[in-house]
Amino acid sequence: MDQRLREELAAWLEFYRELGIDNLYRRQPGSSPLSFQARIVAPKDSLTASFQNEKRSPTPQRAASEDAARSTQLPRVGVPARPLNLFEAPESPRPERQTLDEIREDLGDCHRCRLAQGRRSIVFGEGNPRAELIFVGEGPGADEDEQGRPFVGRAGKLLNRLIQFVGMKRQDVYICNVVKCRPPGNRTPAPDEVATCSPFLIRQIQAIQPRLLCCLGAPATKTLLGIKEGMTRIRGRFYEFGRAKAFVTFHPAYILRNPREEKVLREDFERIRDFLKSRA
Ligand code: URA
Repeated sequence: MDQRLREELAAWLEFYRELGIDNLYRRQPGSSPLSFQARIVAPKDSLTASFQNEKRSPTPQRAASEDAARSTQLPRVGVPARPLNLFEAPESPRPERQTLDEIREDLGDCHRCRLAQGRRSIVFGEGNPRAELIFVGEGPGADEDEQGRPFVGRAGKLLNRLIQFVGMKRQDVYICNVVKCRPPGNRTPAPDEVATCSPFLIRQIQAIQPRLLCCLGAPATKTLLGIKEGMTRIRGRFYEFGRAKAFVTFHPAYILRNPREEKVLREDFERIRDFLKSRA
């Protein structure tokens, strides 16, 4: 077998293992165009199984945010996303770029919203300040709060794998979240918390000026693109985002809870890989 194919296959087997899928069998030749099929088993101690115990219970804030989402008119899928004016129009001169350090300094020991009360660390974001690709998640979880770094827990391990799949290393990309402090009990950030925190995210994106912004899950998609429709309908597509493109896919934590969706995630990351390859 060709060496590159062998390495790719090895990476996929590792990826399946991360999902708790470790029982693979080979179909008879000719029975399927894809010769490998995965049988999904979720042993008690697998990543998937442990995520199932972390179900989020609705809180008043979460209910309020869901009500707010329901009561707002939904934009049509496939239309260019709400222009956020994140990047200047192509013909206008480039404005002075702020650096990530300046934005971090401005954020300071932030107490602008109630999330400050329960946090251990502010998880600002990390990675290449000139990244072509930015991943935006929802908000820090327990591991991230502990370490002060984004996506370092189980979802982060899966994200690392996906970054490798698109031919990059974690240090090549930039990783951040809609909110920078851990919401209590990992609940969804409330609309006022997002409104307070997201201007810093937007400034980070402006500072980096990526080619592609990957929204991981609904909160990132809603915040950056203004799209509130279900993920199943809107995922897997590119949207206009100023000078850049935005791509919507599932949050890795969702895939860990629903490993059957892994194929869809893989398709999405194939699109990201193709996009990144498409221009030097
Ligand atoms: N989930 C997120 O949305 N962000 C993180 O940083 C970790 C888990």
